[in-house]
Amino acid sequence: MQVLNFVDGAFQNTPQVLENVTPSTGEVFGTIPRSGAAEVDKAMAAAKRAFPAWSKTPVAERAACLERLADAVRDHADVLAKEEARDNGKPLSLAAHVDIPRAEKNLRFYASGVQHYASESHAMEGEAINYTLRKPLGVVACISPWNLPLYLFTWKVAPALAAGNCVVAKPSELTPVTAYLLSTWVKEAGFPDGVFNVLHGLGPEVGEAMVTHPDIAAVSFTGGTTTGARIAGHVAPKFKKMSLELGGKNPAIIFEDADFEDALRTTLRSSFANQGQICLCGSRILIQRPIYDKFKEALVAKASKMVAGDPLDPSTKLGAVVSEAHMEKILSYIGLAKEEGGQVLCGGHRLHPEGVEGGFYVAPTVIEGLGPACRTNQEEIFGPVVTLQPFDTEEEALALANDTAYGLAATLWTTDLKRAHRVAAGIESGIVWVNTWLLRDLRTPFGGVKASGLGREGGFDALEFFTEPQNICIKL
Ligand code: NAD
Repeated sequence: MQVLNFVDGAFQNTPQVLENVTPSTGEVFGTIPRSGAAEVDKAMAAAKRAFPAWSKTPVAERAACLERLADAVRDHADVLAKEEARDNGKPLSLAAHVDIPRAEKNLRFYASGVQHYASESHAMEGEAINYTLRKPLGVVACISPWNLPLYLFTWKVAPALAAGNCVVAKPSELTPVTAYLLSTWVKEAGFPDGVFNVLHGLGPEVGEAMVTHPDIAAVSFTGGTTTGARIAGHVAPKFKKMSLELGGKNPAIIFEDADFEDALRTTLRSSFANQGQICLCGSRILIQRPIYDKFKEALVAKASKMVAGDPLDPSTKLGAVVSEAHMEKILSYIGLAKEEGGQVLCGGHRLHPEGVEGGFYVAPTVIEGLGPACRTNQEEIFGPVVTLQPFDTEEEALALANDTAYGLAATLWTTDLKRAHRVAAGIESGIVWVNTWLLRDLRTPFGGVKASGLGREGGFDALEFFTEPQNICIKL
């Protein structure tokens, strides 16, 4: 498939293009534009032209555009799921049941949410009345990663557009196809030209040109912590707003009184869903000592039975990781874990499933015997690799859970209600799941602390981010 930029309501290519590889076989299956500063200038100029009218468009009309775009996602759900699986390597079943329905939901959620978004007023007892306007910011940059491509792309563009901003958006160069398909329905959804622009290309080229552009009003970024720090370095000195959703090294804490089967089943999923490439996956499994061996053996038995296969086969549960370079990174971390003294209990190697032997597959890997301070337990691997550590007391579990630079999400398994509240409140992370994982209510604040990011998206938090409050005080 030939992916094109969508700027000012028209499709455009660039003189140079990049190859798009499917991780399921390692073969090239299309090209994408290699955009840079020139394309960003054009998109920014179009978005700036469109902003005065779009920002004054009645909220119900903006919402209707988003609803029609959501209809297009629903009507093309099958093709979107298939393209997402081919582009990313994720199982078709996951794309069809999670990624694409959620992309549709994101658009509908903000079409509705913005119509229920109200600002405050503050009366000063007969003297004056204050009210707050929430004004759109202008042209905003939305940059998303490859792990949940259309899901995270829509998570940003929907609230940005709903709030009355114009958008210049960029999906990951590794997974551009579904964002491109979305852009083919923008016009018929009723968005005026220039309101919603989609550029493709490399992060350090087109992404960097977006975040350094003088006219950009805000940056919403989801991706790695190192990239986030670089973007913050550009954006912070200009006092532009930024929302950074970054990496994680999430703990899953399993107390001895947990519902064993439920904890086991869900931990298998939180470890290996999407080949471990979800920022919310638990990668450090902390198990209370009395059930350590039993849990370990059961988890390893289940992980060893997971069969990788062609992502496009509807029965596949474990697909390919996103690229050859990413596979090599994951395998090198497994090598590091061994050097650091870890024992690989299962997996630890590349797989070559029948029929898709050239693809980038890594066996689900469980490692034990490593202390909290080693690099394997400190750095984000972002693949199907988890470590196990035993603990004795609640205090020790908390200390281990918090002993990383990151703070995105945590999962905690116990049937003791008081302990659940106590431990959850003690964890340094943006999200804690108790006796579940990845259960998401879109109204809740989403984001991380420490090196996992800055700010919150989701619910009204995203609408707050994409608007500027202005207090108006009227003397009575
Ligand atoms: P990445 O940082 O390499 O890239 C993310 C996006 O930023 C891509 O679109 C990329 O092209 C762009 N980019 C790269 N360099 C840039 C630059 N200098 N300026 C502007 N844009 C640039 O991340 P990735 O490898 O695509 O995604 C994986 C990472 O994302 C993991 O660390 C994962 O934890 C994180 N993630 C976080 C969340 C969250 O909500 N916190 C969700 C999903 C993924």
